[in-house]
Amino acid sequence: MRQTLVAGNWKMNGSLEANHQLLEGLKAGVDAGVKSKVVVCPPAIYVAQAAEMLSGSPIAWGGQNLCREASGAFTGEISAGMLLDLKCEYVIVGHSERRALYGESDQLVAEKYRAAQQAGLTPILCVGEMLEERESGDTETVVARQLDAVIDLVGMQAIGAGVIAYEPVWAIGTGKTASPEQAQDVHAFIRARLAGKDAAVAESLQILYGGSVKPDNATELFSMSDIDGGLIGGASLDAESFLGICRAG
Ligand code: PEP
Repeated sequence: MRQTLVAGNWKMNGSLEANHQLLEGLKAGVDAGVKSKVVVCPPAIYVAQAAEMLSGSPIAWGGQNLCREASGAFTGEISAGMLLDLKCEYVIVGHSERRALYGESDQLVAEKYRAAQQAGLTPILCVGEMLEERESGDTETVVARQLDAVIDLVGMQAIGAGVIAYEPVWAIGTGKTASPEQAQDVHAFIRARLAGKDAAVAESLQILYGGSVKPDNATELFSMSDIDGGLIGGASLDAESFLGICRAG
């Protein structure tokens, strides 16, 4: 049995005051009926605040991005070691906003995955198709290409040490959720593709769904056999909504 994981991606939202309230709300509510592993990924500048407030609680924290390099002249970047220094357990890699807005290629995403995993972080690798790609029947081709770039660089054992998030780009922040069946189809495709390379890794790997998950659709999505939780954007900014999703796991 795979444990459900629910990770909140705050994106570029928050302030010291707003984060304080959100984290207090999460800490107060996380014990009541939450069986999922819960993770929050604040903006990098607030990771220290999350680390201080969440230390000793069941909630883990992580980064939203990292540099593939370990240190040096890379102005504005943050390394895996720095995230570890702040006791991050997880880091999101290859979010569609990083791919689309900051030009992250499959190769760069794979190198970031390797940097995270080798340092001891658990990478949450995001994959997913754009609307035109779904409409032209290319969903599986795109997802396979994104996955294979990482597998080819790091190998299946390293994939087994991470988490995958299937996030159809057309469902992110749009209020349009993939139906549980649409999501399950792609999750099953991902698991089958991985099983072709290593059945044990495929069986134990957590595959999250992301894209407009809310408390009222989470139960149905998480009940699908290959959906092991969610990567949550908008709804992770409100303690009650996020806890509602966590309770669905
Ligand atoms: C995301 O940013 O990964 C995401 C899934 O966002 P939202 O839940 O807002 O669609």
